[in-house]
Amino acid sequence: PGHDLAGVLPLRTQADADALLKATQDAKQVVIVGSSFIGMEAASSLIAEGRAVRVIAQEKVPFARVLGPEIGAMFQQLHEEKGVKFEVEAEVTALLGDAGRVTGVRLQSGKTLPADVVVLGVGVRPATDFLQEAFALDQDGGLTVDEYLQAADNVYVGGDIARVPLAATGQLARIEHWRVAQQHGRTAARNMLGQREQLTAAPFFWTQQYGKSLRYAGHAAQWDTIMYYGEVAQQDFLALYVQAGRIVAAAAMGRDADMIYIAELLGTGQMPAPADISAATKWVDLVG
Ligand SMILES: Cc1cc2nc3c(=O)[nH]c(=O)nc-3n(C[C@H](O)[C@H](O)[C@H](O)COP(=O)(O)OP(=O)(O)OC[C@H]3O[C@@H](n4cnc5c(N)ncnc54)[C@H](O)[C@@H]3O)c2cc1C
Repeated sequence: PGHDLAGVLPLRTQADADALLKATQDAKQVVIVGSSFIGMEAASSLIAEGRAVRVIAQEKVPFARVLGPEIGAMFQQLHEEKGVKFEVEAEVTALLGDAGRVTGVRLQSGKTLPADVVVLGVGVRPATDFLQEAFALDQDGGLTVDEYLQAADNVYVGGDIARVPLAATGQLARIEHWRVAQQHGRTAARNMLGQREQLTAAPFFWTQQYGKSLRYAGHAAQWDTIMYYGEVAQQDFLALYVQAGRIVAAAAMGRDADMIYIAELLGTGQMPAPADISAATKWVDLVG
């Protein structure tokens, strides 16, 4: 309840971002629901002198499920140093209001946080209802395609809605990232022109918070271990995610050049075995 109160804002489009900046100009208490990329990036933009920003996180450590607890803790600390506060392992049960305007957020624990603006950084869903008569949609509204991004004769699908077999592992994944949508667009266009090209590019995304950029290549829904090189706490590191004895994804800060080669190795299936990697590995030399 309360999602339709004035001061409760989504963040999906440029217009949403403009409305949010306007609404927060005089805001003293901002609560952000969701601690994934949208919520955390919004927090890094909205924290300001004289304004309290609180992030409500379902998990114990933000980003732990995607990047691992060490990198998540580093981001949380970065935010806390700038003054952002976290409510972790928390669930919102209601948005409270007065005279049609939001005044606070109630958590399952019974705690109430005061708010004059609430940002909803949760709950993005594919807008694919219009396809449901023609296709068997996945439970989350996505559409599964083959490695050519083809869903049916003369129908190709790419971007956020596409559930695609990943070249590196064969696993199906629906990934909501900008570069991935561009990669899909290229491959789908070539195939529509009759080229029969498989999607091999490794998924890639970045996030920027307080001017610090993390880059991620590949896809690891789960992992057995993470191999770290450098210092996570210093925001200068490479993390390699190992699943069933293979490196399936990498995250890094301050190693942009290496990440270009790592993304290529992941996409082309040339990534060496974990035992063949060390701090001295020259990634550029591994690309054939
Ligand atoms: C706030 C925010 C921040 C983000 N930040 C990052 C980031 O830092 N890095 C990153 O990698 N990714 C980021 N993303 C994700 C990235 O924007 C998406 O992965 C990417 O835009 C997906 O492209 P797309 O073409 O699949 O979908 P979209 O960009 O959503 O485009 C779909 C288009 O289809 C139109 N459409 C929908 N239904 C119909 C219909 N029935 N008829 C006609 N048109 C229709 C829509 O209006 C829209 O224009 C962010 C997303 C959000 C919301």
